[in-house]
Amino acid sequence: MVGDYGLELTNNSKVSWAFSLPRSSTCVMATDVCKRLCYGKGIRYQSQAQKAKRQRNFRTAELLLEKGGPELLAQNLVSIIDQVRPADWLAATITGEPTATPWTLRIHDVGDFYSVPYIHAWKLAAAQRPGCSFWFYTRSFREQLLLDAMTELASLANCQGWLSIDSDNYDSGILAYVQKPGVWKLALLQEAGDEINEKLLPELALVAKSKQVVSFPAHHGGRHAEPIQHDTLFTCPAVIGLYKLESNARKLRPCQSCTFCLP
Ligand code: SF4
Repeated sequence: MVGDYGLELTNNSKVSWAFSLPRSSTCVMATDVCKRLCYGKGIRYQSQAQKAKRQRNFRTAELLLEKGGPELLAQNLVSIIDQVRPADWLAATITGEPTATPWTLRIHDVGDFYSVPYIHAWKLAAAQRPGCSFWFYTRSFREQLLLDAMTELASLANCQGWLSIDSDNYDSGILAYVQKPGVWKLALLQEAGDEINEKLLPELALVAKSKQVVSFPAHHGGRHAEPIQHDTLFTCPAVIGLYKLESNARKLRPCQSCTFCLP
């Protein structure tokens, strides 16, 4: 059935436009910590419509890769990226003025990079749309082939890649981070202070500059873990309520105001 296929973006009140996939099929290197604390388990991600959309995106990505490889998937990704250009994009292009809200896309509000051809498709798509700012967080870095492909994507000027670390995978995350200085940044899923692996912060301090690691205190149902104060950490202001969620798509969303994670 035609309705069983299609690629679709989601617009949410924190990040604006995002592309999502099912966690079960794509979070191939999920750690025990992230399985336990993942915000994707939260109520707003669990409606049948949201789940069906993520499954359809995955099914369609796989079908396009099978039929025409990364090039065909990229062509279709570019088409949905173009659909979310700001309304004043054309006028701004002609006058040289900035758009009222920026053209941004977070790759994977839910889900992760799961195969080299899939990553390659995003690289082709992002390279064709330098006017759009992309960013993503990933735990798929413990497999060298995936890391190498994602490094190519994260090396684009309009795409920022973040290695998502926690108490379970911080050592391989730090190793991946130092392999390509200047390409990757580190994002910490911050558990409650007494649950964090005691070696994690000292090892971060050896490689990361001051306030360069974005930290997301574990949060659920409007509550969050007490943010840890550490020289390397920049606590996400949206998680701790300094930026309010914005439901109006014509206004700046928290990530578009903050821009810390964007390229
Ligand atoms: S640090 Fe800023 S850009 Fe990054 S997730 Fe939080 S609000 Fe968004």
